[in-house]
Amino acid sequence: MKKMKLFAASMLLFSACIVMAQRAEHDVTNVWEPVPEVITPGDGTAPPSDAIVLFDGTSLDSWISDSGKAPEWTIDNGAMTVKPGTGGISTKQGFGDVQLHIEWRAPEVVKGDGQGRGNSGVFLMGLYEVQVLDCYENETYPNGQAASIYKQHIPLVNACREPGQWQTYDIIFTAPRFSENGRVTHPARVTVIHNGVLVQNNVELWGTTEFIGLPTYKAHDDKLPISLQDHGDLVSFRNIWIREL
Ligand code: MG
Repeated sequence: MKKMKLFAASMLLFSACIVMAQRAEHDVTNVWEPVPEVITPGDGTAPPSDAIVLFDGTSLDSWISDSGKAPEWTIDNGAMTVKPGTGGISTKQGFGDVQLHIEWRAPEVVKGDGQGRGNSGVFLMGLYEVQVLDCYENETYPNGQAASIYKQHIPLVNACREPGQWQTYDIIFTAPRFSENGRVTHPARVTVIHNGVLVQNNVELWGTTEFIGLPTYKAHDDKLPISLQDHGDLVSFRNIWIREL
């Protein structure tokens, strides 16, 4: 009986040792730092608590016109709309690696076709365009359609809503890196989610957006303003926020 008890006790000790050894092994791969900052996520309309709001529907204070003056784009009902002929607008603040949320709407009254229908654009660093275009039943060259990286990458699908409806872009952008002698060491990369659908999956940019000719890189600052294009169409934007990465 005494032997039995001794055996049971040693088995218990043995099991405890195994558990402790496993726990120690488990702990070896636990990483405790850095502890992610606690933020409050957005709820579909409100941005995340750590976002910089670039347009809240009431003011263009964060923006400047291509002319260097205050933007003349119109604000109505929580949205800003291109005022054709007044030029594009850019953020006063420069940005590098970012997560950008922007909502856009092509005019409900359809005018023109191809590239002439609801054309605008989101220019990351003012140089790399994610195309904005009414591509609902509107044929154009696919590397110039909505959510294309203009003249570089065709979107994986056409996720356009009908003109007059609000659409979302969630863009994750990694700025290019340059060596001291001005060569690109890490090309820019972009992910685009259009209306909740992944359409650009971390694609590598070939250089700046060019209307004519091939894209190339030219060394630039780490942070540059984001621009919205005046392409002559009454495209509207709202709920624009950004998180620096
Ligand atoms: Mg455009």
